Amino acid sequence: MIGKTYSATIVGYDGTLVEIECDIKKGLPSFSVVGLADKAVGEARERVRSAIINSGFQFPAKRVTINMAPADITKDGTHFDLPIAIAILQTSGQLLPSATNGTLFAGELGLNGKLRSIRGALAITETAKKAGLKTVALPVKNAKQAALLSKINIVGFTTLTDAVLHLTGENIVKNTILSNDDIEQRNDTEIDIDLADIKGQETAKRALVIAAAGHHNILFSGPPGAGKTMLAKALAGLLPALTKREIFEVTKVRSLTNSTDKVMTKRPFRAPHHTASHISMIGGGSRPSPGEISLAHHGVLFLDELPEYPRQTLEALRQPMEDKKVQISRSAGKSSYPANFMLVATKNPCPCGFFGDPTKECICSQTQILNYEKRISGPLLDRIDMVVNVSRVPQKELLADEKPNKNTKNSAYYREKITQARDKQQQRQKSPNAALSSKKITTLANLTDSARKLLDSAAEKLELSARSYFKVLKVARTIADLNDSANITESEISEALQYRQQ
Ligand SMILES: [Zn+2]
Repeated sequence: MIGKTYSATIVGYDGTLVEIECDIKKGLPSFSVVGLADKAVGEARERVRSAIINSGFQFPAKRVTINMAPADITKDGTHFDLPIAIAILQTSGQLLPSATNGTLFAGELGLNGKLRSIRGALAITETAKKAGLKTVALPVKNAKQAALLSKINIVGFTTLTDAVLHLTGENIVKNTILSNDDIEQRNDTEIDIDLADIKGQETAKRALVIAAAGHHNILFSGPPGAGKTMLAKALAGLLPALTKREIFEVTKVRSLTNSTDKVMTKRPFRAPHHTASHISMIGGGSRPSPGEISLAHHGVLFLDELPEYPRQTLEALRQPMEDKKVQISRSAGKSSYPANFMLVATKNPCPCGFFGDPTKECICSQTQILNYEKRISGPLLDRIDMVVNVSRVPQKELLADEKPNKNTKNSAYYREKITQARDKQQQRQKSPNAALSSKKITTLANLTDSARKLLDSAAEKLELSARSYFKVLKVARTIADLNDSANITESEISEALQYRQQ
């Protein structure tokens, strides 16, 4: 008899169904795995053999062959241990073949038969659902993650024995079901930096609220010590809670890195250092994994001191910023990961940091300043809607009072306003304002006559490029949404003009 179980292998963001066949023949005892298995799968033989024996089952003293199909796709990962073990138990008559019908298995086995959590549980579960399978059996630690996908049964096991006793009906394990507690975001207790805690910087704080409300990429320019990093970090507390769909996608990406088996309920805030490798930023590698730009999906990618990042990395950001996903070429073909992030970046005005500072003198030459500016390419700047100059807060102001200013609203207050503005955009155009095309923003702008006149004369006077013109329009639309105004008036245009690149 030939036993058969299902599993999945992960290619980029998604999985492919894998059939695992087991054949047991008379002859000298051996155990081989065929079908383009990688090193981790090759090592599965030792883990599976020990796990079966140490769980009190019998490992056949015959020729055992495992075939994984389709043969032309590399089978990557340690999660094939469980489906291989189940196929062997089935073929050797220790489990009825019908017991595994309609089930996909995934799990890494320890030598003692314990199941260890795996990478890509959500991509694997999705594959099972697409293939029309009814149940996914996997390590209990991954069960909640997998249960983010509805309309498929998830059963989590602690050991190989648990899985077998469930399949024989001797000890049924209940399906894992998510409660609201599992996916609820407790934002208020998780805010690191509240807007109310930042002294001064009123323009920058206002710009941050606008950027959050329209998903606009934003660049803070200013000397060291101006609080640019603090401002960027405050953004985490301003963005709306993740939707269920977003929780699913954020968790799915994170689970592909092996760094968590939890459900991710917090909007990502990724702050990779400028020395991070190209692959860790963009994604890829010999064993492909999502990069920082994908780990920031539905959240914030914070690049502190933008000009310090390698040119190659900055250029590689352009396409994902346009397409909201990143394509990765590998020897085995192309794969892609989602990368819909909001870019928040900072820069100094010059290499020494004090160009234009009222109290400290800049020591850079004109050439040094120009070269520094050139490190951020035009096309990348084109994709940044708002540029805000931040100056140092005078020492006096910082020390003025220890208590927070009563007039400064806290992040929770602004988050509610921002969420309302985002909801408006969702209802109106199914996307944030930042994602609007030039054509679409023109029809949705609703400029009053005087606002149009102001924008046109400013465009002429300031020699705005077409791109800058539409950026101003989009930012003005977001300000109008925050003001709960159907029209864009003069006040929204003149405020939006402040945030353009000078
Ligand atoms: Zn300088």
